[in-house]
Amino acid sequence: GLKAGIVGLPNVGKSTLFNAITQAGAESANYPFCTIDPNVGVVEVPDERLDKLTELVKPQRKVPTAFEFVDIAGLVAGASKGEGLGNKFLAHIREVDAIVHVVRCFQDENITHVSGKVDPLSDIATINLELILADLETVERRLERARKNTKSGEKKYIQEVQVLERIREALYNDQPARSVELDDDEKLLVRDLHLITSKPVLYAANVSESEAANADGNPLVQAVRAYAESEGAEVVPISAKVEAEIAELDGEDKALFLEELGIKESGLDRLIKAAYKLLGLQTYFTAGEQEVRAWTIRKGTKAPQAAGVIHSDFERGFIRAEVVSYEDFVAAGSMNAVRERGQLRLEGKDYVVQDGDIMHFRFNV
Ligand code: GDP
Repeated sequence: GLKAGIVGLPNVGKSTLFNAITQAGAESANYPFCTIDPNVGVVEVPDERLDKLTELVKPQRKVPTAFEFVDIAGLVAGASKGEGLGNKFLAHIREVDAIVHVVRCFQDENITHVSGKVDPLSDIATINLELILADLETVERRLERARKNTKSGEKKYIQEVQVLERIREALYNDQPARSVELDDDEKLLVRDLHLITSKPVLYAANVSESEAANADGNPLVQAVRAYAESEGAEVVPISAKVEAEIAELDGEDKALFLEELGIKESGLDRLIKAAYKLLGLQTYFTAGEQEVRAWTIRKGTKAPQAAGVIHSDFERGFIRAEVVSYEDFVAAGSMNAVRERGQLRLEGKDYVVQDGDIMHFRFNV
């Protein structure tokens, strides 16, 4: 499964947020692929479509899809030189597929800020610099090797040197590796470097409890938004403290508490949705009497590989898929009505599964 890593300077609210994530707790029995690790929290992806399908099909159970957040502690200024938990931190962050960068936008004299002042833009710059320095070291090392290899005259190495030089140039100019536009071949050449600054990022702006319902009134959040926009990144304002309280409630109590706060959707739910999108993920559904369930695929996944998410046998023995779009299913109201309307399509192995598709796979065993 794909993972989003939570990073940020000390005392910005990472642990508070991560505790809210683990408290909210997914039914881990449903997600055998998930890691059991104190630094990993499994979250279920809230999806109104799944709720609607459950209402229509009335199955015995409803199973949302899930993914993992990893708490990556230990980033301080100097991490790229091995300060603090530097090296361990960098090893962990290389393994994630997207980064949620928590920045402090709450004022509280009792909670020390590592640089003495609440200034999210300077915090972002500090962290980004460490990540850029770490990548720079990786790129330099590889570049040295690639240059030696060009002596063989192989075109592959010449191209590799060119790509690495472009990335190094960006890093030297304080720009992340993701700002360098690469075609698919070029991406392949550097993929195994796992460059940290090539991973997609979103900013979680942690505001105080009193601002939970109106975070955008906070000038620091506005500043983070303006900065993120220049990078093409998203911002999710959130009050980690409030989320920690919400996570202890369930169902009706949670709804009541949100209403009291004047919030439609919890910050955690917004964060989960934004991270899911950031990871380039989308959802298809299976809908049977036993179970209505959401499954995660990467955008562009074809039917057999989508089937493989359920079970490898489904992929190996794939014959075809019966497919109906979510909209058509809801308009028809039931699978029988979908059939009567002639809206159940038969699709083969080249079908690219669309977000919201309801799939039924036929396969040989
Ligand atoms: P981390 O070092 O980034 O993991 O930060 P923590 O989650 O441990 O938070 C550091 C301190 O800030 C803790 O005492 C938290 O209770 C506090 N804190 C976190 N979020 C908020 C907030 O929104 N408002 C206030 N007043 N304190 C917060």
